[in-house]
Amino acid sequence: MTSSLSTDILIIGAGPTGLMLACQLSLYPNISFRIIDKNPSRTTQSRALTVHARSLELFAQVDLVEKAISEGKFIDTFKLFFQGQCSFRFDLIPIRVKQQPLLTRYPYVLELEQSVTEQILESFLNEHGVKVERDIEAIDIKDLDSTNATGVQVTLSNGEIIQTKYVCACDGARSMVRRKLNLPFSGGTYSESLFVADCQVNKSPVGQHEAAIFCESSGIAGVFPMSDNRFRLVGTIHEEKKENMHITIDEAATLIKTRTRHYDMNIINCNWISVYRSHHRHISTFRYRNRYFLLGDAAHIHSPVGGQGMNTGLQDAHNLAWKLAYVLTHSATDRLLDTYHDERSNVAKVLVNTTDRIFSFISNPHWFTKFVRLYITPYLFRFFIQPVLNHSQTVRQLLFRRISQIGITYRSSTVYDYGASAGNFHRNTPLPGDRFPYVIFDSCHYHLVIFENQPSPKLNRFVELIKIKYSKIIQIHDSQEENIPLRFEGAILIRPDGYIAYRTMVFDTDHFQSYFAQFFSQEMM
Ligand SMILES: Cc1cc2nc3c(=O)[nH]c(=O)nc-3n(C[C@H](O)[C@H](O)[C@H](O)COP(=O)(O)OP(=O)(O)OC[C@H]3O[C@@H](n4cnc5c(N)ncnc54)[C@H](O)[C@@H]3O)c2cc1C
Repeated sequence: MTSSLSTDILIIGAGPTGLMLACQLSLYPNISFRIIDKNPSRTTQSRALTVHARSLELFAQVDLVEKAISEGKFIDTFKLFFQGQCSFRFDLIPIRVKQQPLLTRYPYVLELEQSVTEQILESFLNEHGVKVERDIEAIDIKDLDSTNATGVQVTLSNGEIIQTKYVCACDGARSMVRRKLNLPFSGGTYSESLFVADCQVNKSPVGQHEAAIFCESSGIAGVFPMSDNRFRLVGTIHEEKKENMHITIDEAATLIKTRTRHYDMNIINCNWISVYRSHHRHISTFRYRNRYFLLGDAAHIHSPVGGQGMNTGLQDAHNLAWKLAYVLTHSATDRLLDTYHDERSNVAKVLVNTTDRIFSFISNPHWFTKFVRLYITPYLFRFFIQPVLNHSQTVRQLLFRRISQIGITYRSSTVYDYGASAGNFHRNTPLPGDRFPYVIFDSCHYHLVIFENQPSPKLNRFVELIKIKYSKIIQIHDSQEENIPLRFEGAILIRPDGYIAYRTMVFDTDHFQSYFAQFFSQEMM
């Protein structure tokens, strides 16, 4: 065995979550980290297909968004069929035309195979001089001392023992780290199985940029267009089949054909088919004994409803990366790391519960639920939900914000408990904890945006303070130069992950310093 005090951070697992964390950390030159994966090569399975607007914003921060968009296929219309009839249509085009500047630059869903997402992230990592160490499994973890003040020792399958300040468990649903730490993964497993297949078909029931779900008494089917004229086909499996967790392509083809009814769709070629049983589980502690962080599927898994899994993992990584970097290189206090748990555990809890309710409703074979699903829900959609959606921009926005994850806010995080706002703001001004949607700034700095201010001694003093004391971490911007469509006299400070850290209309330097001192020690200042 070889032993090395090797690194500040060990990332266990190079799925999308671990790769995103590594990409973000690679932007900070003074941090040492390693990323290992037990598999000898990257996955070739397409698995997660849906990349939401918020994930595209993360890609944009590191200049990867154009690449991702060019490799994927965008979807801007969703249809819901009940027994052959389209009862609901959610069209994102009005959002793109009228509301894009206020919401996101990416008002659609990108269908991009997980294997391609991982490849894009890993290429970025390689360009930044980091290699994923493959065919290496983390097999054990141990605190270095009883108070856990110094770090963690990790034993690898190649005999190496690593000592590290922090372990980031991105090791998926069967996380070794979670098991060794005995962290309960509470929740359950659905009785229904699902198949997924990537196929070419003779005749598509959906348009180029449309996705559709079909509800029938025999179960559910989903059709999602992919690049290269292929389709992701998804379906719940016959009750008599669900025990053996296997389905042939012909059986899948028959299920899809029956559930898409008169579209007469046949599979002509299939390059991947898989059957899986979905779970709904999450842990309650995202940061454990100071040194361990759990992210992605290691921390939360849920049904495929809304394609949220990978997107949530990417955001866990994005939320944690800059906090670790600031603690290691800019004297941020340990308290900043606690906010990772505050912010992300709540998101996971809400997500698992919501997707669970929807999935249970759409897949439950009980006769009464089936009756409501097939005979009452279509009317609700057609005569109530659809008209409301057609006429209300607000409802359309709300739905899109929810699905695309751009609506996630950290307002209730403890980071905002102590004076993150100074002055009497109009109620429409974004709050601390909200995502700042108008500009995508780099992810290594805080960004202070000054809004329409006449020079005044107070403003000058505030700007001077930032320039002298915080110049290493805060960059200053002018709202008009950045074309930000908000009008007020004041300033907003945006965190490296694009969320609002602080806002002021009074430019009180003492107030700002005491707020910031909660997370950064005097050394930095
Ligand atoms: C069929 C299918 C379809 C899906 N569709 C979607 C979708 O449309 N949208 C969406 O958002 N999500 C989707 N998901 C979920 C998505 O695939 C996962 O949420 C995502 O892969 C989680 O990423 P992760 O990096 O957290 O974990 P994983 O992708 O599981 O990666 C974990 C990595 O850790 C490695 N590892 C594990 N243990 C160790 C160890 N001890 N030492 C070293 N390495 C280790 C593994 O080899 C693996 O590479 C889908 C999942 C499936 C199965």
